[in-house]
Amino acid sequence: MKKVIVLGGGGFIGGHLAKRLKQDGNYVRICDIKSHEYFDHREICNEFILGDLTDPKTVELVIGVGFDEVYQLAADMGGAGYIFTGQNDANVMQNSALINLNVSKEAVAKKIKKLFYSSSACIYPENNQLDPSNPNCEESSAYPANPDSEYGWEKLFSERLYLAFNRNYKLDVRIARFHNVFGPQGTWRGGKEKAPAAMLRKAAETPDGGAFEVWGDGAQTRSFLYVDECVDAVLSLMESDFSGPVNIGSEEKVTINQLAQMAIDISCKNISIHNIYGDEFFNKYGFKCPLGVRGRNSDNRLFKKEMNWEVSTPLIEGMTKTYEWINKIVAHANEAVFA
Ligand code: NAD
Repeated sequence: MKKVIVLGGGGFIGGHLAKRLKQDGNYVRICDIKSHEYFDHREICNEFILGDLTDPKTVELVIGVGFDEVYQLAADMGGAGYIFTGQNDANVMQNSALINLNVSKEAVAKKIKKLFYSSSACIYPENNQLDPSNPNCEESSAYPANPDSEYGWEKLFSERLYLAFNRNYKLDVRIARFHNVFGPQGTWRGGKEKAPAAMLRKAAETPDGGAFEVWGDGAQTRSFLYVDECVDAVLSLMESDFSGPVNIGSEEKVTINQLAQMAIDISCKNISIHNIYGDEFFNKYGFKCPLGVRGRNSDNRLFKKEMNWEVSTPLIEGMTKTYEWINKIVAHANEAVFA
């Protein structure tokens, strides 16, 4: 049994990861600024500390003596509507950088044996992702750096921060660049949700015969990884001798309209897609349509080589499970309204 700390365990991936670590017999301490919205804390940890990790005093308390591993997933983040509008840039950079500055220092002070850091595919240069059918996200293509968001720049800075702590203070680190992770018990409304949850929510909420909006022309490409597979990949990276940075994602690339159509097909409704962008979007929302790069797909060659592991859940399977979860909440809310 190991003693582990999951920072950001009140969030989507952190909650699933903590749950697995606890199920595997480890002692799990979580710190997050908010409680988990969907998991009972007893299911995912032994201790839940409600605290703000931008405060060094909280981090000093949370990263205790005698813990073996830290999984650092806490970040100020969200989907395109949060990251790409420019409206949250200063907070995103300051909050996440402060968390990582505090955590790296404290992990060394408390002699943590191994630290996992969740970086993002958003670190990759925008210029390598202009062609939706052929984006380049090979790990070595990260430099010369040119991420398309401040969120990506902060992630790149923090990757370098942890690598520097590895070089200078022998902090044993594992760094993964997640590519769009989705699944149940994640944010699905409120503006911070990502594309799969947004499409599935719209499919669940739109009546048969209706239409829903998809931001952009729908031809932009992405890949999406089911959360259970993300957890498997993180654990195998932690067990390996490979530090990374390495991609953790799916190589099943789809256009955003294909993703939307998949959500519609799963709902078994007759719904049409309304692509909204340009002036129509600006006139309706008052800001430029936030799209991110034109194309992105995970490149898993390095992960396969180092970990001998491959993604096995097809997108449709993960989307179906996530739809069932979202649809149940939507149906429940509708019942309450009509009761
Ligand atoms: P999430 O927002 O659900 O989880 C992040 C958690 O960090 C949240 O629960 C939040 O409350 C917590 N947090 C934020 N600021 C904090 C603070 N000051 N103190 C304590 N806790 C704080 O996001 P997620 O999807 O679970 O992502 C987990 C990690 O993976 C993040 O670092 C994210 O940047 C990275 N990532 C996620 C994806 C994805 O597709 N979900 C893709 C790339 C990278």
